[in-house]
Amino acid sequence: MRLHRPDAYRLLGVSPRAHAETIRERYLALSRIYHPDRAGGSTSATEAFQQISGAYKTLSDAAEREKHDRELGMRDPLRFAEDTAAERAVHVLDQAASNLRGRRRLPAAKTGRDLRVKVAVPFARALLGGELPVSVEYESHCDRCDGSGSERASDDPSCHVCDGHGQLRVGLRRESRQCAFCAGRGRVILRPCLDCGGEGRRKVQRTVQVAVPVRCRDGALLRVRGAGEHGQHGGKPGDLVADVRLGADPLLTLDGDDIVCALPLSLAEAVLGGSVDVPSLEGIERLRIPAPVSSGQELRVPGRGAPRGKGGRGDLRYRVEIDVPAATGSQVRAAVLALEDAVGAEGWRRRGAFRAAVARRREER
Ligand SMILES: [Zn+2]
Ligand SMILES: [Zn+2]
Repeated sequence: MRLHRPDAYRLLGVSPRAHAETIRERYLALSRIYHPDRAGGSTSATEAFQQISGAYKTLSDAAEREKHDRELGMRDPLRFAEDTAAERAVHVLDQAASNLRGRRRLPAAKTGRDLRVKVAVPFARALLGGELPVSVEYESHCDRCDGSGSERASDDPSCHVCDGHGQLRVGLRRESRQCAFCAGRGRVILRPCLDCGGEGRRKVQRTVQVAVPVRCRDGALLRVRGAGEHGQHGGKPGDLVADVRLGADPLLTLDGDDIVCALPLSLAEAVLGGSVDVPSLEGIERLRIPAPVSSGQELRVPGRGAPRGKGGRGDLRYRVEIDVPAATGSQVRAAVLALEDAVGAEGWRRRGAFRAAVARRREER
């Protein structure tokens, strides 16, 4: 919403045809409200007073007023005619009736804005679902002033520039623009709230529990009703919309409905078996290694994979990778050669089968 800086006539709330005396009366009436000595000297009241005084200074000087009118693009010669006694009477009556302080329109209730936040959902949580605490910073209703922005809202005058609407109709098309004099509030805050400085809203941090569905996808939008920004003037709060960014897991990957984890084992573990700590979707588990296992062999834990669409869960598969020693010192070398001897040609099952297959192929050619 663009702001509209009111011209001098609008600032004083007088017709462009107003008589100098009408303008003066209006200025004096407004001074009684906004003069820093009366309004307590707050910045907002002082600014309002300065704007009104500036407008009066312009309109009370015939040459300045003519210049101002030319800048506004007013060419109507009637404008410079002095207004009639009847018009003046209307102005004075209108002024008395509005009483400036008494008339206040309550703006319509406005639903709070939705708050959209990017949320990193950990791998396991995205698959299993559940509550995810999300910390959000948002604008909240100020409790001290109850959202009015004013220390004493009952003392604040209704804005005479926009007649309490907060909006001005401008130009030939009568477009709606926010009134700059009251910043769209419809009233002028004489003493801004000490907590929020007149905003009526404050930034606060809050933790919201977001319900993550089972098998949540990257880019999913999760809505938490009523956890968005506060409504204004009694309006309902908006929603929190969590934009899901799926986190990767350095150890676990998804394969259909199964979860796969590479499991490096030492030669001794692979040959002799034992048990090792392994990750799962739920945390850390103890996995029993049957003896012996070979590289590429999978140890399957049924029903511990990802939830399936039609109920139940896939499997959790640990894929064995036999690790080769990084150290090749003389001791390691001697031990490996001793192992080679001890196992013998027949003892290496996969290697023996592979060599036999290659030998058969050579004979067939
Ligand atoms: Zn406040
Ligand atoms: Zn206004």
